[in-house]
Amino acid sequence: MNYQKKRATIHSVISKHLKGIIQITFPILVLLYFYFVDFSLSLLATSLVFSFISINFIGAVLHRVFAHKVVRIKSDFIAFIMAYLGTVYFTTSPRDWCGIHYLHHRYPDTDKDPHLAMRSWLILKHSTIDIDPDDLRKMTFFYRDLVTRRPVAFFSENFLSIMILNFFLFLSFGIDALIYFYFIPVIYAHLGEIISIQNHYVDGILGGVKTSDEHNGRNGYLLSLLVPFEFNHGDHHDRTMGDDLGNTLMRKLFS
Ligand SMILES: [Zn+2]
Ligand SMILES: [Zn+2]
Repeated sequence: MNYQKKRATIHSVISKHLKGIIQITFPILVLLYFYFVDFSLSLLATSLVFSFISINFIGAVLHRVFAHKVVRIKSDFIAFIMAYLGTVYFTTSPRDWCGIHYLHHRYPDTDKDPHLAMRSWLILKHSTIDIDPDDLRKMTFFYRDLVTRRPVAFFSENFLSIMILNFFLFLSFGIDALIYFYFIPVIYAHLGEIISIQNHYVDGILGGVKTSDEHNGRNGYLLSLLVPFEFNHGDHHDRTMGDDLGNTLMRKLFS
């Protein structure tokens, strides 16, 4: 095995398991820190507000602007900042995320919906899925900004390195910064993702209003206010490019 191939293999193994590993280790490290080192209620409250704000960069910018392209950000500089804010607290590269999301919209609640394989109450993980070449072509078109637009593609191509740099960037501000402003927002983002995915599958438990016979997505499900831009998830499936509050806000902000 040559060096390049070995490196690619290690990367793909790490990336595949990274999500699960982080979802298990980050909460344990946070609890250990609270118990053995320090716990500040005011810092925790600030961190939760911060997490609530930062998750919107995934729900609004990564999802609506980069995946669905409800609007194109004109400035490359703003696109770069937005791509960073949409990926800084996540464990899925933007390109992977948008590809999975494309398949989720195209085949909701069927065997070809990758969310089905990611469904779990405890953790989400990436499993390998077979994608037929036709879907792969359409998928690449769906997230073409992530392939062709340099400031945005950068975060997909270098995702693992950027995650490692992020870790050390927060650590450079001290252990409190790492715990309260990196680990906790990452945990929050993944809880949000679990809630959003469970909304489709768990009849009755998260409640909400089912909007179509074509999919199980619901509006106003329990805990959806923790992920504000996903509150109307059922409607979003029915009218992806519609003038709902999230799309309208993105168009106002970036056009
Ligand atoms: Zn969507
Ligand atoms: Zn959905």
